[in-house]
Amino acid sequence: MIIVMAHQAARAQVEAVVERVKEIGLRPEVSVGEDRSVIGVIGGNAYAYREAFTHLPGVQEIVQITKPFKLASREFQPRDTVVDVAGVAVGGDQVVMMAGPCSVEDRGMLLETARFVADQGARILRGGAFKPRTSPYSFQGLGEAGLRLLAEAREATGLRVVSEVVAPADVSLVASYVDMLQVGTRNMQNYALLQEVGRAGKPVLLKRGMSSTVEEWLLAAEYILSQGNRDVVLCERGIRTFENSTRFTLDLNSVPLVRELSHLPVVVDPSQGTGRWSLVRPMALAAVAAGAQGLIVEVHPRPDQALSDGAQSLDHDAFARLMRELRRLLEATAGQPA
Ligand code: PEP
Ligand code: MN
Repeated sequence: MIIVMAHQAARAQVEAVVERVKEIGLRPEVSVGEDRSVIGVIGGNAYAYREAFTHLPGVQEIVQITKPFKLASREFQPRDTVVDVAGVAVGGDQVVMMAGPCSVEDRGMLLETARFVADQGARILRGGAFKPRTSPYSFQGLGEAGLRLLAEAREATGLRVVSEVVAPADVSLVASYVDMLQVGTRNMQNYALLQEVGRAGKPVLLKRGMSSTVEEWLLAAEYILSQGNRDVVLCERGIRTFENSTRFTLDLNSVPLVRELSHLPVVVDPSQGTGRWSLVRPMALAAVAAGAQGLIVEVHPRPDQALSDGAQSLDHDAFARLMRELRRLLEATAGQPA
């Protein structure tokens, strides 16, 4: 349940409610809004204790959160969360472009790509150093050497860096190099990993599981939030359906839906979502029109030579065209996501 404080409630009154929640053996999660504070009360049968709070000074209303996800819900926090990725705001007024190769392959290609995408207006460099590949015989990534190259590219360009972590034991290593940890589609329900990134003190880009419902995705976010990490960015990256003419079916319904259900920022990955470079630009634009607050796109200087996901990677010309058209779309919609 959530305890909504009156807008004139004093800080001491909020603290008194928090203390009472703890005395009862439940867990308080305070959200301080511009207008009023809200205290989430987490615990199996929290709502059964509502009478303990109704008469405390400053309490305006007690609301049962009906959704299975609590901290991720709009009921808990009506205003949008803006995630600060080392100074780049995700979920604010600007649509944030994240771009780079699927995998970090070598120094030359990474720096070339990073310089190009930065020049075109991207703010965050993507690139996998630990790759979760469907086949154990495919390129698995450069590991820590790849993370070092990402850190070098950040120094050279000013881009922030996002990279995937695939194992709980690697979280602190990856977190020491990147600005945002990526949890991939194949790990969305790896609860040990979710808890570990929840404790890592870095923002998390949480991909939707390719066979997961929106509710399961938000519950995965709840695992991270409930460890105390509020900086979660959700990423729609396509789901499995009966359609087999594209790699996945990019579910753009989920974008406005999740924005209704949750306060967390939503971004879209049209590269994994389509599997074909020629579909990436139109679906990227469609995603922004649907309300996506950012995009994550694979870019490679020579896609035909890429060690992973070349078929869905944009070359430099195609990325430049996407950025031009994205700018025009944003101008036409006054720079605001729909
Ligand atoms: C990727 O971003 O390269 C990737 C592997 O993503 P996903 O987990 O969505 O497949
Ligand atoms: Mn990829």
